[in-house]
Amino acid sequence: MTSDANLKQPAATSSRPDTAWQDDVRAGVRQVRDLAALPLSPAERAAAQEAAAAHKVRVPKPYLDLIDWTDPNDPIRAQVIPSPEELIAIEGELDDPIGDHAFSPVPRLTHRHADRVLLFPTYQCAVYCRFCFRKESLTSIGRGYTREALEPALAYIAGHEGIREVILTGGDPLSLPDKALAEIRSRIEAIPHVRLLRIHTRVPVALPSRITAGLVAALQGRLMVTVVTHFNHAREITDEAEEACRTMRQAGFALLNQSVLLNGVNDHVEVLEELCRELMYRLGVKPYYLHHGDLARGMAHRRTTIAEGQALVAELRQRLSGICSPTYVIDLPDGGGKVPLAASHIEGCEDGTWRIRGQDGKVRAYREVVG
Ligand SMILES: *Cc1c(COP(=O)(O)O)cnc(C)c1O
Ligand code: SF4
Repeated sequence: MTSDANLKQPAATSSRPDTAWQDDVRAGVRQVRDLAALPLSPAERAAAQEAAAAHKVRVPKPYLDLIDWTDPNDPIRAQVIPSPEELIAIEGELDDPIGDHAFSPVPRLTHRHADRVLLFPTYQCAVYCRFCFRKESLTSIGRGYTREALEPALAYIAGHEGIREVILTGGDPLSLPDKALAEIRSRIEAIPHVRLLRIHTRVPVALPSRITAGLVAALQGRLMVTVVTHFNHAREITDEAEEACRTMRQAGFALLNQSVLLNGVNDHVEVLEELCRELMYRLGVKPYYLHHGDLARGMAHRRTTIAEGQALVAELRQRLSGICSPTYVIDLPDGGGKVPLAASHIEGCEDGTWRIRGQDGKVRAYREVVG
């Protein structure tokens, strides 16, 4: 085979069939009862079962296989296996940490910024993350996709000409069948003022076999497609995840990643550095946001302080190129939106001369010259 022919190979290079993801789901943890099969101590199992009653448990096999069970502080385990700390309620934590509900004019839609909306086709996920900031919605609503349920949201988008981006989130949109995704995509692209379809998903991380030729075809059409993945640790970047991302890149999708800063998972500069580099260099996924831990209930043990986050990202920025560097943000309660948290480099300004701290830490004077 010539190298030319190699280039024309279809995106999917795996020998597994396009239905392999169904086996990966079946062989994973799908409900509380499946926790019994995991190598947990009786005490850990009892605690996990109790915590799983408050926030659903689901872990596809490929993600489960990444856990090192000999390490009680394993960063993969910490993200998906319920722990007793989740049951500790702390004053100040919130059911709706980022104020989605206050900006929801119709069911299944949040409109906080003029040009973009969040659309929730499903409140179900392929994996349930313990730190999820929408876990109350996922637990209390539990609804899947139906065509009818999205009608008011689609009518709302059609009626607001300023909306350019539709962000499918949830729940995990890529937990839906290809047919549902194609239907949603075609309904959205029929609205002429919408330009871009964005998909926020943890499927490329937790169930990469789901990223099939059929899935990407379902999303291709008139709209620019951006997929925002959710990798939190370099150990999640596997050969399978690489293949899933290659499939999406070759389909013409732009790939970005958002991570959550989590105590005991990725709150070390070396861990974040490796994550960001591998995302960009191996997966072709641009690190977009690093989220400060939201005030989701039962997650105090996973949050860092803002000062710790600021110190981490300052060090990270020293080590990484601009394209590998995410923006550290907080999603403010009551719908204040996402705002940058990194410490400012501006020390002050007097008579048109700014004092700005350089990347080397030294403060320099910058005199503005404006014609
Ligand atoms: C995060 C979010 C967006 C997307 O914001 P970007 O900064 O463009 O990524 C849009 N709407 C809502 C309500 C959000 O929470
Ligand atoms: S996949 Fe996303 S929405 Fe679902 S539990 Fe994880 S963080 Fe929450």
